[in-house]
Amino acid sequence: MRLILLGPPGAGKGTQAKLLAEKFNIQQISTGDILRQAVKNKTKMGLKAKSYMDQGKLVSDNVVIGIIKDRLDNADCSKGFILDGFPRTIQQAESLSQALKQMEIDIDYLIDIEIDFNYLIQRLTGRWTCRECGEGYHKMSNPPKKKGVCDKCDGELYQRDDDKEETIQKRFEVYRKETEPLKDYYQKNGKLNAIKGDGGIQEIFSRITNLIT
Ligand code: AMP
Repeated sequence: MRLILLGPPGAGKGTQAKLLAEKFNIQQISTGDILRQAVKNKTKMGLKAKSYMDQGKLVSDNVVIGIIKDRLDNADCSKGFILDGFPRTIQQAESLSQALKQMEIDIDYLIDIEIDFNYLIQRLTGRWTCRECGEGYHKMSNPPKKKGVCDKCDGELYQRDDDKEETIQKRFEVYRKETEPLKDYYQKNGKLNAIKGDGGIQEIFSRITNLIT
């Protein structure tokens, strides 16, 4: 099973990708998570990416395309994968398509999670992430058992710099300009499936699994 999840920031791509990866026993590949890990480890790539991420801008195509190619080459992706947060530009989509062609594989489903922008602001500003393992929480829909502490690893929960309201506006602007055109791009090859992104986590998960199984 090879999947791509598209959708604006806060649509729930990361949450759904984790559930899908578990259900189908495939790898979740999140460029956002990989970049955040690089920032945390202060690698050369992380130091370069940080200022773009903090401002809600996209990291350069070359960097994220490199990340994805490396990751897809890894043996653990042979059973399948789910891309979450990539591609985000037409150039990334084209490079992905070339890489997949070389590997003689194809994407089975592209799922676009559609959601109202006003609702998203509310969602994103309530989001908390574990500093240690990256697990995501939400103060309304998915609170941790103990405030500020990760249920899974006891790590400290923090609000991502790019989940602050000013940065969110910038991320939406970038999404509209750079990422939304991907819908038309993928519509042309007939693989794009839109699902509604409102409601609870399990409700959205069922919409996706109904579509692909
Ligand atoms: P995410 O967790 O997917 O919302 O990503 C967080 C941030 O990482 C984004 O706002 C970008 O700065 C950067 N990023 C993640 N994925 C990509 C990508 N495919 N292309 C460019 N920048 C990305």
